[in-house]
Amino acid sequence: MMQANQSLFAAHAYLPDGWRRNVLLEWDAHGTLTSVTPDTARVPDGVEKAAGPVLPGMPNLHSHAFQRAMAGLTEYRAAAGTAATDNFWSWRDLMYRFAARITPEGLAAVAQWLYIEMLKAGYTSVCEFHYVHHTPDGSRYPNQAELAQRVVDAASTSGIGMTMLPVLYQYSGFGSRAPREDQRRFINTPESLLDLLGTVRAARPESAALRYGVAPHSLRAVSADSLHELLSGIDRSAPVHIHIAEQTAEVDDCLETEGARPVQWLLDRFNVDSRWCLVHATHVDANETLALAKSGAVAGLCLTTEANLGDGIFPAHAYLDAQGRIGVGSDSHIGVDWRAELRLLEYGQRLTRRQRNVLASAEATHVADRLFGAALEGGAHASGRAVGALQAGRRADCLVLDPDHSSIAEHAPNAWLSGVVFCEHGETPIRDVYTGGDKVVDNRRHRDEEGAYARYRAALADLLR
Ligand code: ZN
Repeated sequence: MMQANQSLFAAHAYLPDGWRRNVLLEWDAHGTLTSVTPDTARVPDGVEKAAGPVLPGMPNLHSHAFQRAMAGLTEYRAAAGTAATDNFWSWRDLMYRFAARITPEGLAAVAQWLYIEMLKAGYTSVCEFHYVHHTPDGSRYPNQAELAQRVVDAASTSGIGMTMLPVLYQYSGFGSRAPREDQRRFINTPESLLDLLGTVRAARPESAALRYGVAPHSLRAVSADSLHELLSGIDRSAPVHIHIAEQTAEVDDCLETEGARPVQWLLDRFNVDSRWCLVHATHVDANETLALAKSGAVAGLCLTTEANLGDGIFPAHAYLDAQGRIGVGSDSHIGVDWRAELRLLEYGQRLTRRQRNVLASAEATHVADRLFGAALEGGAHASGRAVGALQAGRRADCLVLDPDHSSIAEHAPNAWLSGVVFCEHGETPIRDVYTGGDKVVDNRRHRDEEGAYARYRAALADLLR
């Protein structure tokens, strides 16, 4: 008889070719799917039956865990300010003040709670763009990888899969400008960052649940030379993530100092391919849009954060038409919900074009299905891990929908994803969540929820004191 904890039977499951009936999912002791069999005639003895339709778990391709603690605290205009002065850069000053205060224990508590929120929302893995490395005065912790290790541990305790991306932050602006005082917790050279990566990697080795890559913070924060040096120090297949063209001021600075727009500059000088994730890429012209799509890199879209920060709107229609890869991330964590990211991706297009179902295509007529499939595929690429699909060889990351939820009840299967993505009527339709075959969320409750929330609140009280 099969072990009950290494298989799941679903009356409906969303496979790479769409909804299929009577699907038997089986995985090995490492949590990797060994077989996915639709049209199973009979449920084998001892196999757990999913409570509702099963979806693959969604990869979250962009997170700064500590920023979860400041969500909702910057939604006001400073005295004597104007809408024009309240922008990304003023938000960043506040964020830096927060970053200056975070402790190793506080970061651990915030990250663990955040990852539980992600799991409950149906994110089964996360790419952590981790840039707070040092003590508040900028010196190294006795263990230089203290903070990165705390974040990796928070992921493994919560059960979420992780791609840890230690960030190279070297300069404060184009032209290799010296770092600001309030950036001292972030600063490294390529050499010291690679050393830090080696330390965390030795202490917490790669596994089926954990992968490492690097993140040059942005073209503002590295030079061409330091980016070359960083890339030459890592495995050729390791994921590389970078913030790019989020702000028009950044595009203007890049044009002025480098003579090219940021995405064009990067594509011209580096071998940008499918292991790259260009986070935001909001401000791209028509040539950059096509060139980025052609490169195979993933555009890492973080719609709720981009809306919250007033960044702008990515040209998703042209980019998807050119077969560009996308994935979604919760970034600053003003919201932690891939359904909201996909909805806003479409709504940004509807509001600017005054049309409906803009991001559907001739082959994928349902917007939610097209965006869900694209974000699974792109998110998996960006994570560098075998996730994002219910198929043999991928990780057993599954979401079980509540079949009685008002967003899908009485609907035909081909309308289920539309209901999940576009309807917002109270509690989430995601009932149970499995990562690597472990049931980490059961009937909307994570196994460590109470303790983790108490520790998060204590950490937040300490930060706000
Ligand atoms: Zn970011």
